[in-house]
Amino acid sequence: MHRVYLDNNATTPVLPEVFEAMRPYYLEQFGNASSIHHYGQHARAAVEKARASVAALVNARPAEIVFTSGGTEADNLGIFGLVQRGDHIITSTIEHSAVLNTCKRLEQMGCEVTFIPVNGRGEVDPADVRSALRPNTRLISIMMANNETGVIQPVEEIGRIAQKADVFFHTDAVQAAGKVVIDAQKIACDTLTISGHKIHAPQGTGALFVRKGTLIQPQIYGGSHERQRRAGTENLPGIVGLGKAAELAKLWLASPSAPTPGTDRARESGGSAEMAAMRDRLQDTVINALEDAGVNGLGAPRVPNTTNFWFDHIEGEALVIALDLKGLAVSSGAACSSGAIEPSHVLLAMGLPHQRARASIRVSLGKQTTQADIDFAIKVIPETVGRLREISPAYQKQTVS
Ligand code: PLP
Repeated sequence: MHRVYLDNNATTPVLPEVFEAMRPYYLEQFGNASSIHHYGQHARAAVEKARASVAALVNARPAEIVFTSGGTEADNLGIFGLVQRGDHIITSTIEHSAVLNTCKRLEQMGCEVTFIPVNGRGEVDPADVRSALRPNTRLISIMMANNETGVIQPVEEIGRIAQKADVFFHTDAVQAAGKVVIDAQKIACDTLTISGHKIHAPQGTGALFVRKGTLIQPQIYGGSHERQRRAGTENLPGIVGLGKAAELAKLWLASPSAPTPGTDRARESGGSAEMAAMRDRLQDTVINALEDAGVNGLGAPRVPNTTNFWFDHIEGEALVIALDLKGLAVSSGAACSSGAIEPSHVLLAMGLPHQRARASIRVSLGKQTTQADIDFAIKVIPETVGRLREISPAYQKQTVS
């Protein structure tokens, strides 16, 4: 069966170059980076090379990078590591569960948390962040790009607010990394999270940027690895893979892509311009082919690979399953909680009615996505939505009346 994968915000395939870079570190060069012999030295050199590549991706110094087991652990370290009982924390209603549930746990532990709402396009207003500040505010945690809609948040402005108020600023940049340029200096954040498997490195790898001079409380105790910020023997092949993926992501963001005839727009914005053009072609064609359909977050700045559709009169879950049966992998933002399918908290926070939030799906492109993949999606999405509507009693009733 012909299969197309357009769920790259869930995870991305490891690129062949990344896999090749990792291979020797499973086989011949398997040392423990803490050992003093030849094997250990080789491993240490590889870890430090990867650290420099990851640092370069976010415009940081190598010593400011702490390797973790992924985005979730980095979010936990970047938040728990900076606050204590009695502190006030500001976050948003659209964060990933890795941040939301960390903040909810902080509430249970005696912290106060303000969850900032978003507007209809899924954007946090920096003015709301400013007015939520209290004398005991210790940390602001606002994501750089949302995983469901791709909407980019005004993190530079929020960083300036945090700096002025002398409050820590953490940003979850998991869905921004490799898609848009990240500059930890411009964002002026104290901690910043990235995850390997969203940038074509293996699952179970990630990193936290910790600004020089920021004292972070480790969340895992043991040896003195990672400058005493995260104990545990380094995941050598994984870290090498993350380093290679970061190197490739940086090149990709800077690469001149085929210029659009008569303009040099694509050339200016690098490989991401081509990806955005593919995403927009998919989005526009699907929306034009169907009535009662639209895009969540449209009009807001978005990462180039993500679009989030709503198709009234259908269930997003049913559509994901029907598309999978045709060979197209996408996702719905819905989560299963206590046996019931709950609509996405992100779409509800944007003010979508429950029914429309449940009728939404996320489509996310990757570096491996081709124009032929987009052609396939353009063919199967409208025909599948059409078929589901035909068999939907609610839709029939509406079209008859
Ligand atoms: N933050 C965001 C915005 C994410 O999209 C994800 C993963 O989906 C995470 C954090 C968690 O990262 P990981 O899967 O590496 O733990």
